[in-house]
Amino acid sequence: MFEGLSEKLSGIFDTLTRRGALSESDVNAAMREVRRALLEADVALDVVRDFTEKVRAQAVGANVVKSVTPGQMVVKIVNDVLIETLGSDASPIDLSAAPPVAIMMVGLQGAGKTTTTAKIARRLTDRMKRKVLMASLDVKRPAAQEQLAVLGRQVGVDTLPIIAGQTPVQIAQRAEQAARLQGYDVVLLDTAGRTHIDEPLMQEMAEIKRATNPHEILLVADALTGQDAVHLARNFNESVGITGIVLTRTDGDGRGGAALSMRAVTGKPIKLIGTGEKVEDLDDFNPQRIANRILGMGDIVALVEKAAQSIDAEKAAAIAERMRKGKFDLNDLAEQLAQVEKIGGLGGIMGMLPGVAKMKDQISASRLDDKVIKRQRAIILSMTREERRNPDMLKASRKKRIAAGSGMRVEDVNRLLKQHRQMADMMKAMGGAGKRGPMAKMAQMMGL
Ligand code: GDP
Repeated sequence: MFEGLSEKLSGIFDTLTRRGALSESDVNAAMREVRRALLEADVALDVVRDFTEKVRAQAVGANVVKSVTPGQMVVKIVNDVLIETLGSDASPIDLSAAPPVAIMMVGLQGAGKTTTTAKIARRLTDRMKRKVLMASLDVKRPAAQEQLAVLGRQVGVDTLPIIAGQTPVQIAQRAEQAARLQGYDVVLLDTAGRTHIDEPLMQEMAEIKRATNPHEILLVADALTGQDAVHLARNFNESVGITGIVLTRTDGDGRGGAALSMRAVTGKPIKLIGTGEKVEDLDDFNPQRIANRILGMGDIVALVEKAAQSIDAEKAAAIAERMRKGKFDLNDLAEQLAQVEKIGGLGGIMGMLPGVAKMKDQISASRLDDKVIKRQRAIILSMTREERRNPDMLKASRKKRIAAGSGMRVEDVNRLLKQHRQMADMMKAMGGAGKRGPMAKMAQMMGL
């Protein structure tokens, strides 16, 4: 589905990654081409605008890690923003409700609703070992009910017996009751479609929803219809409320715009994609895999990730090393705080150090506020060199001057001095102990 877009993007980035230095205007020019490529792929205008703006902002402010080129860095940023636009994580069907879990399938006629219902039933039965019942609520087209029954036999999943003359709501309620009485885990409700959205359709969907309170409402949308699928999703989401999207015909030559826009426009995840006519042609929608397919530059992305990891680890190790130095005055502290800020704050450093992630979770987010670091630096910078070297000379009048100079209070100055004293003592006591211990303890002492 993404061939055209993929080809264009790799053309743009091929030239970019071969270059050495990149100016802001290089990035802007590349972004203009990306913008055009996305629009040609039928991605919604708002989404395109948002996408290129995010990439541009990150690319201009990015610290290029050594051993990768700026162009490669841009590719990595585009990759990350693509993943974010597609929804970050895969979203499987949610079965976490008391059984029978009702899943309502909605969409226009011909989108692939009935086929997809059978595909999902098969997957839940085979892979997840659930006992599934399917029911067709399409009373307008008797052939639709028969179609589901045929598919049910094909995939070995039960369908609710057809009783002529019932309304969709009555069928839905009968399906839920049968599921409850007969111990089904999941009941799939295949609703009727129309050739286009109209008020009666939305009303019927709303009534079924009210009567059955489904745990999932999945919109089945045809990827080949591009922007129409996006409007459809917005419409269904606003009038009925959906929990997720299944994009069908991704095996066709659609331009991919629907896949890229739907999440951003509705805020609801694409959960599954139909990849063919056969009942086994159903895949999870995995944003990372799709981004890789669109960009086709998995190697560069992996390279930049690896380089970023090693460079960060190097810097972190250098900081830890300096902390272990016997003498640790306020000049050292100021220097280290500056380093910490540069690498993206303490949160950033700690996240990079192996084994520290766990500890980071224990420290509440608010205390990891990098403003604290800024304030501490401001206090130290208001001291004279001599004072920094010998904090013991800081008596009341000097403290008052420092507080005034840094826009803080004397208590803040005292707190910093106390923290520094504790740190210096600890450094001495720990000497050459492992990298993680002093680092972690130090963070705690700094009140972070
Ligand atoms: P409904 O009217 O929404 O219930 O649509 P159907 O389930 O009857 O599907 C309409 C047609 O689309 C059928 O011929 C299906 O085989 C076909 N179809 C459904 N999903 C896919 C898909 O992911 N890829 C392809 N190529 N065809 C599909």
